[in-house]
Amino acid sequence: MLNELNSPARNKHKIIVANWKMNGSEKLLKDFSTFVPTNSNDIIICPPFTLLEAAKAILPNFVKIGAQNCSEEDEGAFTGEISASMLQERGVSHVIIGHSERRTLFNETDAAIFKKVGSVVKNKLTPIICIGETLLEKKAKKTLQVLEKQIEGSVTKASVHTQLIVAYEPIWAIGTGLIPNESEIRDTHSHIKEKLKKYFNTDIPVLYGGSANAENCTKIISIENVDGLLVGGASLKKHDFVTICNC
Ligand code: PEP
Repeated sequence: MLNELNSPARNKHKIIVANWKMNGSEKLLKDFSTFVPTNSNDIIICPPFTLLEAAKAILPNFVKIGAQNCSEEDEGAFTGEISASMLQERGVSHVIIGHSERRTLFNETDAAIFKKVGSVVKNKLTPIICIGETLLEKKAKKTLQVLEKQIEGSVTKASVHTQLIVAYEPIWAIGTGLIPNESEIRDTHSHIKEKLKKYFNTDIPVLYGGSANAENCTKIISIENVDGLLVGGASLKKHDFVTICNC
């Protein structure tokens, strides 16, 4: 049983990221305009591209604004794409890169993710790089192997200068209501952090993502080496998201 009071992670300042995916509206932003968390956790809301400017204008100043993706390229004939420099110009500070939906639905490879991270870093934004295993890979006990390959393939050394963030999101946990057990989260996070520490020689925050909600957030966030949460579905409900930000 988790002893929350004795957890070393308990008093650490955490990072809470909201991934709105292809959801939200100006009305939802207005709904979120009045929320005030009771702690000093870092809060980053990532709405769709079309709402970035409104998010900056409507959300309280302490909320940072993130995008959910960007192009590998800076500019040019890439119809429908948006570059990191364009995001920077709109006041965005963070960019989610390599979300599993991008990897699976849009065939993004580690090599493409590596280039996007490079572009984000070049524009002095913070990449939030998502990694995670499928259920098949988990069942085959290949989780750590898959995560290491994703880290090696997609994380550039340069990213540390813009406060790189990594999000561990088991693909089978995203939007399913399933979550790994406490020791699985603890062990996987400590493995990822060790690997990143060896590579960067500094502590890189590692967030957990996948079916985090208002009920389980305190328990997950208290697990050793969990530096925050990346929240999908539950981040669209103001009451639930406020609870998560306060956990
Ligand atoms: C996500 O898509 O990044 C995510 C964590 O989704 P959910 O919280 O809905 O599982």
